[in-house]
Amino acid sequence: MIVLVLNSGSSSLKFQVIDTDLDRIRQDADVRLCRGQIERIGGEAIVAIQAQQGPRQKFTAALRDISESLDYLVRWIASDASGITSVRTPADIHAVGHRIVHGGELFAESTLIDDQVLKGIEECIDLAPLHNPNNIKGILAARQVFGRSVPQVAVFDTSFHQSLPERAYLYAVPYHLYRRHHIRRYGFHGTSHRFVAGRYGTLRGLTKENTNIITLHLGNGCSAAAICAGRSVDTSMGMTPLEGLVMGTRCGDIDPAIVNLIAAKEGLSTHEVEALLNTQSGLLGVSGLTNDMRVLLQELGEQDDRRVRLAVEMFCYRARRYIGAFLACMGGADAIVFTGGIGENSPDIRARISEGLEWAGLKIDHSRNLQLAGLEGQISTPDSRLHAFVIPTDEELLIARDTIRCTLGEHGSPQSDDIERKRIRV
Ligand code: ADP
Repeated sequence: MIVLVLNSGSSSLKFQVIDTDLDRIRQDADVRLCRGQIERIGGEAIVAIQAQQGPRQKFTAALRDISESLDYLVRWIASDASGITSVRTPADIHAVGHRIVHGGELFAESTLIDDQVLKGIEECIDLAPLHNPNNIKGILAARQVFGRSVPQVAVFDTSFHQSLPERAYLYAVPYHLYRRHHIRRYGFHGTSHRFVAGRYGTLRGLTKENTNIITLHLGNGCSAAAICAGRSVDTSMGMTPLEGLVMGTRCGDIDPAIVNLIAAKEGLSTHEVEALLNTQSGLLGVSGLTNDMRVLLQELGEQDDRRVRLAVEMFCYRARRYIGAFLACMGGADAIVFTGGIGENSPDIRARISEGLEWAGLKIDHSRNLQLAGLEGQISTPDSRLHAFVIPTDEELLIARDTIRCTLGEHGSPQSDDIERKRIRV
């Protein structure tokens, strides 16, 4: 079956087309036919597509909205220009999987979309006012392009963390605020944490029940998850993605009293302060240079700028602090798993985060660590008590697999991903 995976933003549409079914999932033989994105929707949009066979293509097209963009995309995929021979007409796409940012407390797993589910996603708009409305537009656009007979599946960033116990997800504020307004920690990056946990189980030959790890998703956004018996029991992001680790432009944990203080001192509204904490803080705010870790590390190597060093040190220190906290919460773990753009590609950051965790039994094999840039494998020595792994994440693959499982009625769990997997990146 051919699945179109969509991630709809305010003016962008990211997509992948993946050929998979229950047998292919079992055999880990899914095939990625193409991936790409349409940006600057609303004017002269930029379309970038990489098909499995063929060169990367980039061109422009006047596209007014998500609906028009999706219609254009599907026609292009079905045309000779794409070189995707298994999709000759839009009807060759059998199902659509959507990345949905917030499922609140309504959705603890991926689900087939019907009118009631759509209403539920609408009810979660309060929790993700910038994201859920665009995700809904993506669903409505797909209904328009494919008709109602093509199954659509919602895969939520928050679902994996719905297993957190109350003591971990509640904030210590008056309880009625939770009852009245759903003020609590939800956590994000769930698809990524779930994917790497499943993959770790496969690599180690473990069942879900025996998977006890801490996953670190370090990209532009960063989060950590404590995973006991294959289930998320704590995570660093909270009610919104602002809480937790130091990120590219987000501050992570701060004293909430700072918000009013900054507002008063800088003459800003509290909304403006919140925007500053989301977009001007983190690595960018501390370094004063960039949110891009690659650039910061290069700069550090060339001129050892004090604030650049501080930004990198704070990033690694905060990550280590969360690892320590989660080890205590879980009563120990078998491994730390690094993923995301930084976690997958930076041996330097992995080594800096791991420094000082020797007490917990972690010994990094530095030559293995250096070898693994963008690759999967173990970076701790065999005699470590706490291991470290690098596992590239693949959220779109998990969305495609969940889409198949929901469509065919076999719901997925991390265990379903416990199969030896060939890399299928294009
Ligand atoms: P997003 O969260 O937007 O999906 P990514 O997961 O792609 O982002 O991560 C982006 C981050 O990964 C950037 O800070 C980038 O500098 C960093 N990154 C990518 N490659 C490397 C590398 N080789 N060394 C250090 N950082 C890297």
